[in-house]
Amino acid sequence: MSGLIVSLLWLLLFVGGGIYLAYQRTDLRTSTVAAGIAVLAYWIFGDGVVLWKIVLTLLFGLMVIPNLIDVRREKITRPLLDIYRKMLPSMSDTEREALEAGSVWWDGELFSGMPQWDRLMSYPAPKLSEEEQAFLDGPCEELCQMLDDWEICHELADLPKSVWDFIIEKKFFAMIIPKQYGGLEFSAYANASVITKLASRNATASSTVGVPNSLGPAELLLHYGTEEQKNHYLPGLAAGTEIPCFALTSPQAGSDAAAIIDKGIVCKGKWNGKTITGIRLTWDKRYITLAPVATVLGLAFKLYDPDHLIGDTEDYGITAALIPTDTPGVEFGRRHFPLNIAFQNGPTSGTDVFVPLDYIIGGPEMAGKGWKMLVELLSVGRAITLPSSASGGGQAASYATGAYAVIRKQFNTSIANFEGVGEALTRIAGHTYIMNAAVAVTAGAIDQGEKPAVPSAILKYHCTELGRKVANDAMDVHGGKAVMMGPNNYLGRPYMATPIAITVEGANILTRSLIIYGQGAIRCHPFVLRELHAAGDDDEDRGLIEFDDALFGHIGYAISNMARSFFLALTHAKFSEVPLNTPTRRYYQNINRYSAAFALASDFAMLTLGGELKKRELLSARLGDVLSSMYLASTVLKHFENQGRRATDLPLVEWSVRTLMYQAQESLHAFLRNFPNRWIATMLRVFIFPRGRTYSAPSDEIAAKVVDLVTMPGESRERLSALAYTTLEPGNPLGLLQEALELTAEVVPLEKRLRQARKEGLIQSDYVVSQIEEGEKAQVISKAESRTLRNYHEKVLALLDVDDFSPDELARVPRDAAPARKKAAKQPAKRAAKKKPAASKKKKAS
Ligand SMILES: Cc1cc2nc3c(=O)[nH]c(=O)nc-3n(C[C@H](O)[C@H](O)[C@H](O)COP(=O)(O)OP(=O)(O)OC[C@H]3O[C@@H](n4cnc5c(N)ncnc54)[C@H](O)[C@@H]3O)c2cc1C
Repeated sequence: MSGLIVSLLWLLLFVGGGIYLAYQRTDLRTSTVAAGIAVLAYWIFGDGVVLWKIVLTLLFGLMVIPNLIDVRREKITRPLLDIYRKMLPSMSDTEREALEAGSVWWDGELFSGMPQWDRLMSYPAPKLSEEEQAFLDGPCEELCQMLDDWEICHELADLPKSVWDFIIEKKFFAMIIPKQYGGLEFSAYANASVITKLASRNATASSTVGVPNSLGPAELLLHYGTEEQKNHYLPGLAAGTEIPCFALTSPQAGSDAAAIIDKGIVCKGKWNGKTITGIRLTWDKRYITLAPVATVLGLAFKLYDPDHLIGDTEDYGITAALIPTDTPGVEFGRRHFPLNIAFQNGPTSGTDVFVPLDYIIGGPEMAGKGWKMLVELLSVGRAITLPSSASGGGQAASYATGAYAVIRKQFNTSIANFEGVGEALTRIAGHTYIMNAAVAVTAGAIDQGEKPAVPSAILKYHCTELGRKVANDAMDVHGGKAVMMGPNNYLGRPYMATPIAITVEGANILTRSLIIYGQGAIRCHPFVLRELHAAGDDDEDRGLIEFDDALFGHIGYAISNMARSFFLALTHAKFSEVPLNTPTRRYYQNINRYSAAFALASDFAMLTLGGELKKRELLSARLGDVLSSMYLASTVLKHFENQGRRATDLPLVEWSVRTLMYQAQESLHAFLRNFPNRWIATMLRVFIFPRGRTYSAPSDEIAAKVVDLVTMPGESRERLSALAYTTLEPGNPLGLLQEALELTAEVVPLEKRLRQARKEGLIQSDYVVSQIEEGEKAQVISKAESRTLRNYHEKVLALLDVDDFSPDELARVPRDAAPARKKAAKQPAKRAAKKKPAASKKKKAS
């Protein structure tokens, strides 16, 4: 063998062996022993120059040092810890509490650069209990039937009394309340399924039901309330005699909710004729859902104790209390009108309202713990209500638009046959599949005891954004039919409602820019939180040991991610281990690849930018996008398995994962392109994209299969919209569109015959109804076939119909009253101190 080949083999042994050990995350000690054996072998068998042998031996010596733990701690770790402490960005208590909220789940695996798929795959598929299924098929179906969007939003600007009564009687507000208090005690999956179904029918109803089952007094009481408070409020909340709301947002403090100026002063005051220690509250809140009809107000405020009546602390910070709305001084009852959707939402205020100390949720010892309570609850609630509402909207849009695109014809063909329309239909179906998967898989994890803080932010942001995209596409495919408001329009109002979900529970720009990656980077990273804790440890020695352990683990992790990212990119991840050998195998491998690349990029971003990364929102948003894409793609793969790996759904899975992983690639590319340190960016690009950006978006062929799936009656179309309200009945567009779609198959050959007859001159008319008559006369079609065609066209015409109004019907205020209203509008809106309006009282009583 020539000397050159032998040298190359040695080089391969050292470089390949190093990459292999790093790729497999072999521990330091084993790696050092392996390196020692290789260097010894080179001294004995290698025929290279002595200089190389000495260089390799020195490198081996460097590798030995970290194994000498005491030397390492004193000589390396201690100075680094000192530097680290100086570099640490300042962190407020509220930030720390937000960071530590919830649990780390699959997001942690994706952050690890080496996801252990068994962890995800071992989770059982979420399932409804018999009781939950019966609720969905019974009261939920019945409620959907009762809902008439035009009546609710245009005519009444409220749910009709019969609907309020039904919601309360059937305990829709009590899904999360345990049975011992009279609630339904549903799983997260059941809660999400009910909201999805309601949202497929009516946004007012789904929002009204969603709030009490999400971040509100019931949830706060269940987790933090005293026994006395639970026994006092929960039975009433379950029975619907109490209507809850929770007020955090104020005019000055929206996204920066911790900056509220609403305050409570601990003081002495009169209560039921006695002098007690209580709180004097002053607040001004807005945008509060259910506030106009609430009987119990959850209130967030800052608590101060200037006279030290309850302890040594003066400034306790954000505190949460429950205030009955009939307490003297509570002002409420006026309404906002959020984008024409009629759910109850409005302001509330109060000045110097005196309440007892035990109105604080959890009692006086929970003073100042309000923020922690809210962020903890957000880690679960944010994954359910808004994402499942978006998913419900998506299911309805897919079902309706798929059918509409078939029955609506232009240029003598269904518009679904035009590729441009098909592109929109594909996005509608694919995005709906992603939302369905994300909601079901994450709710399933919550039911297994997880409190997935980062995934819940991912779901909140991405499902509501996908919901908005679906609404846009559905509007475009429907054209003018979706623009003309009226009882026949089933899309205009859901489309208008999309910005509501974007804004609430953490507005989306902030969620993407600050929360997803900001929280993920510290919470899910296998070492960063440990390093932070160690650096902040008051016990110097314990801090040093813990920091040393985390630091060297971190270094090994970074080296491993370099090796994994490079090797997986070079080989298109073809050899990486995945849990299943199925047609989706390559997608698991692609996620493995991006997980390593993401972990590598993330580490260098934190290392070079440190606390500055928090301000570089565009960079952290892009890293958050990569994490989100991987998370959503994982849920798609898991959902596909949970649903029994149905081959007919494969086009949806392929389109969804390809779209998401293509976005991951593009986000990483944009991150590197804008990374401020160009040397590091170039180095990272070598490890992340050694062959360039090779991942492609879904092909037109896959997209065409998705169009077929959503425009043809069949199991995939049904599964995609499984929770939507599709019952065939007058007034339900989804049922009626499906009926027409199913008739289409019967009608198409008859129409073909008529077209042929028209070409041959057997019939003359261009107008379809006349063609049917002529066709029957000319015996091109039989009498029965003519009936079928007429029936079909009647149904189609009714579905294509839009509303028109007399000018008087449209005007809400007589013309001559308009100037007076304009004049009134110029006055600043003054919040009248109001008692609960009579109508609301009636509602409550019923
Ligand atoms: C229909 C509806 C119902 C609601 N229900 C309730 C309720 O029941 N109880 C309650 O307490 N509140 C409720 N809210 C309030 C809601 O939570 C707030 O609207 C939300 O927190 C955003 O506050 P803001 O509207 O003042 O927007 P702003 O805080 O003014 O934000 C404006 C924009 O700036 C962005 N932004 C702000 N800070 C940053 C940042 N650091 N980085 C990047 N972008 C940033 C936001 O993302 C947003 O796009 C409701 C709101 C609506 C619209």
